[in-house]
Parts: sequence; structure tokens; C-alpha cells
Amino acid sequence: MNSVSTRTGVWLVGARGGIATCVAVGLAAIKRGLAGTEGLVTARPMFEPLGLIPLDGLVLGGHEIRTGSLRAAADEYRTRAGLFSSELVAAAAGELDEIDARIRPGTALGCGPAINSLDGVAGLLETKLRPAQIVDRLAADMREFAASVRADRLVVLNVASTEPYRAAPPDFARDLPSFEKALASGADGFTAGMLYACAAFRAGAAYVNFTPTPASELPALSELAEKKGLPHCGKDGKTGETLMKTALAPMFVERNFRVLAWEGYNIFGNRDAVVLDNPDNNLAKTSGKDAALRGILGDERTHTRVRIDYTPSLDDWKTAWDFVHFQGWLGTKMILQFIWQGCDSMLAAPLAVDLVRLTDNSLRRGEKGILRHTAAFFKQPVGGGTHDFFAQSRALAEYVTERAGGTVA
Ligand code: NAD
Repeated sequence: MNSVSTRTGVWLVGARGGIATCVAVGLAAIKRGLAGTEGLVTARPMFEPLGLIPLDGLVLGGHEIRTGSLRAAADEYRTRAGLFSSELVAAAAGELDEIDARIRPGTALGCGPAINSLDGVAGLLETKLRPAQIVDRLAADMREFAASVRADRLVVLNVASTEPYRAAPPDFARDLPSFEKALASGADGFTAGMLYACAAFRAGAAYVNFTPTPASELPALSELAEKKGLPHCGKDGKTGETLMKTALAPMFVERNFRVLAWEGYNIFGNRDAVVLDNPDNNLAKTSGKDAALRGILGDERTHTRVRIDYTPSLDDWKTAWDFVHFQGWLGTKMILQFIWQGCDSMLAAPLAVDLVRLTDNSLRRGEKGILRHTAAFFKQPVGGGTHDFFAQSRALAEYVTERAGGTVA
């Protein structure tokens, strides 16, 4: 029941990055029967009652700040990190070219030196335009895309590089009138992440923030989403080390162990890591990663720390070493250590697709505002709530159960 045979436009911000490329190659491969759906949460039978958009109903386009092509990106990940076979890239080539033709130049406003100095950055919108005009252009690109592919609905997925850390959002982000006024007057303080989310809502799209960059959770933009009746969720995909942490930490709580220290050390070497090698961008990522663990343990005495370092030779293959020092009966101190060796983009891509499908489904159902049931997918769930992975997964299952049996237009 509820099955749907419509088309959903998926607008990728960061359209030639690692996650975007793995999404594009993966969807093309699954469509041709060259790969299965392992890693895709929404392929589990429990999601059937929702009537999610089929994978071949997703049509991709997007914004990017680097020149190049998706085919070249796929080849780069193939040769550098061994992500795909050459047969797979060849099979997907036609589709990658079609998507490439739908990629438009984006904005890197306020993105800082690490992003602006990425290899191949060119043709940015802000060299000619003011923030308000940039939003207009971004929204026009999104609308044109939706019309050109005859999409019934549009979902914007932010998979762009992590913007530099800011201690607090600009004042004008506190409410929609202040935001609109600041846009109109060309005020300083706008960043690309905000402009893309604003453009998405103006274009009538739902919005997913897979990055730690401030965007739709800012009060002004949440207000815009509510006003337009659109759903959104974020932020920062929970794909690897934090997933492990939020699955393990509840065990320490349930067994009344006191966690004295939890050190997490991550090394990897892809383009995301190049950006995170800049201390300002790094802080934007690590501040959020720590919050999930602290939230579950709830003990302010626990020493927690997350470090991320750039190790070029590892490329997309992240190694995370976690050291957990904890205390049990009679104060006896014990240690748990684990090593996670994951392929970053391959972990992220299916979850990005899951989020697109769930958000698209909410859009179709007329659900607006923050999609709290997606919290299991994020390190910093917009809308708050527990970080406990199992509690979040139960909440998602309850959401599905509540909707099972209902029909949608
Ligand atoms: P990536 O560096 O491979 O891709 C990012 C792409 O975004 C690049 O092609 C870059 O040119 C482009 N870009 C940068 N700024 C842009 C802008 N303002 N507008 C349009 N395009 C822009 O990174 P990735 O590994 O694909 O990760 C993407 C994002 O997802 C990062 O913010 C990362 O921190 C986040 N994330 C990744 C994972 C994971 O890979 N496991 C998990 C959680 C969050």
C-alpha cells in the first residue's frame, strides 16, 4: 500500500564531493542490478508501510563550487581510495554525465580559506552578487531543475564541506523578519549554508543537512520552513565513530559504570579531511561530536575529547581509535578500546539516501517543521532529544508504526 510512482528531485549541495559521488554511482548501480541495498536503512522491510519513493524515482542535480565532472570524481575515488570498480564507473557513466549537466555553480560565501582554496574552486556566485541575489539565484536553479526533470517534489541535501566554527550565529538569525531585513540591506555575516537552506525553502523544497554547518536549525530559517509548510532535518550525519559511541555509551549507563574518560582519535585523508585540517573547520566538527557522548553519559565529571587529524595516505578510509576508561564495583578501573576502520563516503551515502527518502515522504504527507524521527541519523539532531542510538531507532520505528495503514496523496 501507499506505493508511489512519482519522481523526486534531489538537489545536492556539494554535488561532486565524496558523498554525492557515492550516492550517484550507488543509485545507478542499484538501478542496473549491479549492487544490492546493504547499508540502506530504509530498504529494511519495516519501512514498507511508509510507501517511500523507489530508488529509481530519485533524480539528481546540485550546486558545486569546484569545476570538474562526476565521472572524473568517480574515477578519482576509484584510483585514490579503491571505492568502485572501473566496470561500475563505466556502467554509471551515462547517468553521471546527465547529472553533471544539471550541476550549477554555487556560493562559498563566508566559507573561509580552507574551502576557498580547495583544488578547482571557480566561478563562484558571490564575485558578482549580494547575498539576497545569491539566494534568488540558488532558488531559481533549484526551481528550474525541479521543472526540467518534472519532479513532483524537491529535496535539498547539504553534503558540502564543513564551514568554519562560529561561537554564535549572527544576531539576524534569531527570527525571520530580522533575517529578511539583513538580506535586503546586504548585511555581513551570511554564510553559504544559510543561503542554501533559505533558497531551498523559498523554492518549496524540503531540506536535509548532513553537515555540521549551521543552517535550517537557525530560528529564522526554521520559521521560514514552518511558514512555507516544509519539513527539514539535520545535522551532521552519524555514520561511524559517533554511531559506535552512541550505541555503546548507553551500556555503561545501564550497568551503572562510571565513565572516567572517553578519548576518540580519528585519522583520515579525503577532501573532507583536507578541510577539517584547518582548526576553525575542525572545531565545527569536533564540538558536535563530543556533545552526543556527554548527553548520554550525563556525568559532567567524565573527561571526553574528540580529535580529528589529516593522514593523506588513508584517503576515504577513516580509522578511529577510542579509549574508554571506566569504573565498576569497589571503584575498580577497567578499559575498553575499539578501533573502527570505515570507508567514510560509503558509510554516509546510503544514510543520505535514507534521509532523502524519509524527508520526501514527510513532504508528501504534508508534515512540516523539524523531523524528529530522523534523529538516529544525526550527531546533533535538530530538535534535540536523546543521543542514545537505540532509543532514537525505537522512535523511528514508532513513527513508522503510527503511519502504517494510513494513506497519503
Ligand atoms: P567532500 O569534501 O568529498 O565533498 C564536499 C563537496 O562540497 C566538495 O566537492 C566541495 O567542493 C563542495 N563544496 C564545498 N563548499 C561548497 C559550497 N559552499 N557550495 C557547494 N559545494 C561546496 O566531503 P564529503 O566526504 O562528501 O562530506 C560532505 C559533508 O558531509 C562534510 O561536511 C562532512 O563533514 C559531512 N559528513 C560526512 C560524513 C562521512 O563522510 N562519513 C559523516 C558526517 C558528516
